[in-house]
Amino acid sequence: MTLSRAPATTLVHTGRDSQRFDGMVNTPVFRGSTILADNLTQWEARKTPGNPMASYGRFGNPTTRALEQAIAQLEGGHRSWLFPSGLSACTHSLLALVQQGDHVLMTDSVYGPTRQFATQVLSRLGVQVDFFDPLIGAGLSALMRPNTRVVFVESPGSATFEMQDIPAMADVAHAAGAWVVMDNTWATPMFFKPVEHGVDISVQAATKYIVGHSDALLGVATANARAWHLLEKAAHDFGQTAGPDDVFLALRGLRTLSVRLQQHWANGLQLAQALQAHPMVRRVLHPALPGDPGHAVWRRDCLGASGLFGMVLQPLSQPNLHRFFERLELFGIGLSWGGYESLALPMDRPVRSARPWVEEGVLVRVHAGLECADDLVRDMTQALDHIS
Ligand SMILES: *Cc1c(COP(=O)(O)O)cnc(C)c1O
Repeated sequence: MTLSRAPATTLVHTGRDSQRFDGMVNTPVFRGSTILADNLTQWEARKTPGNPMASYGRFGNPTTRALEQAIAQLEGGHRSWLFPSGLSACTHSLLALVQQGDHVLMTDSVYGPTRQFATQVLSRLGVQVDFFDPLIGAGLSALMRPNTRVVFVESPGSATFEMQDIPAMADVAHAAGAWVVMDNTWATPMFFKPVEHGVDISVQAATKYIVGHSDALLGVATANARAWHLLEKAAHDFGQTAGPDDVFLALRGLRTLSVRLQQHWANGLQLAQALQAHPMVRRVLHPALPGDPGHAVWRRDCLGASGLFGMVLQPLSQPNLHRFFERLELFGIGLSWGGYESLALPMDRPVRSARPWVEEGVLVRVHAGLECADDLVRDMTQALDHIS
């Protein structure tokens, strides 16, 4: 009998098999390229398509399979494939689905490097890309063309945090025969279930919350049964594979994902609320705040919020901006997020083509780490006070 399990339980129990590894709790790191067969009969059996017993290290090993299995189960998808980075998972999910002459619709608030791939690489391959207003919802139907093959969504938007109505857009896309790919790094499969909401391929930059400790780069794409064979074929054809040591770190991070996210969520929200009240802050961009434009969609679709959000500071001189960052003691200045530590970074003015970014003032991305929330609030408040 299989009891139904909450995701927090799945995190602890899935993707490991102690009996197989002399009782070891964790699946060991399997390093290797060649996998020997005992005889030709066994070798031939391994080569059959879909055989989970891989014939070569590039197709995976027990460490890889453990993480793929755990993520696929969390996402509620058919199967998952690991990539060497989150960006690689995004770009290869797109490449799996498109061909020359196709049209792709992408959210205007997409992660910058994914946008760059679309405008620089997809266009070079003869794939047209248009960007849509992240708030468009079912209005997406007006942008669909007979050759629209993929709708690429990311909610909330990178840097600007607009929530998107994924189910409404998925209905439009599917009615027109297009695929839906989602970058779900912000919410993780703990807080948003893309496949349940109509997404065909769900992508995670595992570098962020799944690894959780800023010590490895990794991506994962999870497909429903319909999209899986295309994703798998592209991953094979492009030679996409992930290093076993990084996969091990991701498995290790995964086990504590639930408790870490609860704390990131609470810390982020407390910090966001405190910043909202500060006179140097014009606007806080965080869908879990009741006044946020995306709050209703967030409440309807998400089970929680991560620790990443944005704030728009009052217009500021460059020296004052530098002074603010120098004054921060607990927030590191750096890219990425999802680790245990807090970060803050001024963002370039968002590149837009469908919905212009009209906010004046400096956009700052904040990641609330696992420090005590009161300390984070005190630190940011004193730095803002300093430039007031
Ligand atoms: C960081 C990030 C990525 C890319 O992940 P890498 O592992 O750094 O390549 C993709 N999408 C989003 C939303 C991200 O924040």
